Amino acid sequence: MKTPRIEIDFAKIAHNAKKLKELYGSKGIGVIGVTKVVCGDPEIADVLIKSGINTLADSRMVNIRRMYEAGVQASFVLLRTPIPSQIESVVRYTDISFNSELSVIKKLSEFAVKNNTTHKIVLMVELGDLREGLMPSDLEDTVKEVIELKGIELAGIGTNLACFGGIKPDDEKMGHLSSLARDVEERFDLTLEFVSGGNSANYNWFMSTEDIGRINNLRIGESIYLGRETLYRNPIPRLFTNAFALVAEVIESKIKPSVPYGEVFQDAFGNIPEFKDHGQIRRAILGVGLQDVLVSGLTPRSDIDILGASSDHIVVNAKQIDLKVGSEVDFDLNYGALLSAMTSPYVIKKYVNYL
Ligand SMILES: *Cc1c(COP(=O)(O)O)cnc(C)c1O
Repeated sequence: MKTPRIEIDFAKIAHNAKKLKELYGSKGIGVIGVTKVVCGDPEIADVLIKSGINTLADSRMVNIRRMYEAGVQASFVLLRTPIPSQIESVVRYTDISFNSELSVIKKLSEFAVKNNTTHKIVLMVELGDLREGLMPSDLEDTVKEVIELKGIELAGIGTNLACFGGIKPDDEKMGHLSSLARDVEERFDLTLEFVSGGNSANYNWFMSTEDIGRINNLRIGESIYLGRETLYRNPIPRLFTNAFALVAEVIESKIKPSVPYGEVFQDAFGNIPEFKDHGQIRRAILGVGLQDVLVSGLTPRSDIDILGASSDHIVVNAKQIDLKVGSEVDFDLNYGALLSAMTSPYVIKKYVNYL
C-alpha cells in the first residue's frame, strides 16, 4: 500500500465520540463535534453523526462547505468569529456562528434579512485566555444591541480557554460564565440555548466539579480523535488514543556514524545541529518529511528514535530493529501532527474499520 498515509480508524473514533457524549451527557452537557483538525473530512463527520453528535463545528468556512457539499446531515457552527469578507457564506452555510464584534454581527444581520432567514449567534466572552471574546463588562450592552437586530437570534454565550494563553478552565471561570448567563437571562428576560464552557481542556473541571452551574455545552475535538484531555494531555479512561496512525516507508537503511563529520554549519532550516555520539548505528531514512507532517509531534510505535527531519526525509536510529528498504514504520500523532497530516496534500487518507 502506498505511503506516506494516515490510517483513520472509524470504529475507534465512533467509540470515543459515543463515550464522550455519554459522559458529558450524564451531567446535562451537550457535545458539539469539532472537525477542524480533520479539515472537515466528510467521512469522519459522518462517523460523528452516526455516534449521535448532530451538531458539527469548524473554524473555517472552506471546511464547513466541504461537509455541506458532501451532503453531511448536521447543523453547522462556525467557531471562529466570521471573517468580514466571508459574511455572506456564513449566513448561507452555517446555522450558528461564534461572534465577538458587533460590527460583524450587524453585517450578519443585513445578509440574513436580505436572504429572508435567521442566523443564530453565540457571543464569546473573554475570561483570561486572551484570544477571542468580549470583555465581560461589555456583555450586557452588546446583548442589548444584538437582540434589537433583525435576522439575528442570540442563541447563547460561550468562552474559550486553554488555547492561546493556556488558562485552565476551573470552577471559578465556569462559575463566572454561569453568572454572566444568569444575569443576561434575568435582565433581558430570555433563555440562552447554549452556555458553552469550552473544549477538550474542560475535562478535568467536568470530572471534579460538584456543580456545573448553567454550563450546558462543550465543543470537543481533540478528545474525540486522540482520546485525551488537553491540560496535561492525559489519556481519558476507556478511550482510544490510537485512532490515527501515520505510516511511512524506509527508502534507505545503512550502518553509518551517529555524528556528522566535516565542518559544522547551518542545516536546511538555518539551525546548527548537534548530535550525541553513539558510534556506528543503523540509520534508516523514511520517505516522509516536514511537508507531510509536523515531525516533532510523531511518536514511533516501535523502539526506534527520530534523529531529525528535513522537508522530505525523516532520519531514524533503527536501534535493534532491522529496518529494510520498503519496510513500513508506524507513528502515533499529537494534535499538531494530526492537523498537519490531514492538511498535507501529500499524505494519503486511508480509512479503516468502517462502521
Ligand atoms: C478548536 C476549538 C475547539 C475544540 O478544541 P479541542 O481542544 O479540539 O477540543 C473548541 N472551541 C473553539 C472556539 C475552538 O477554536
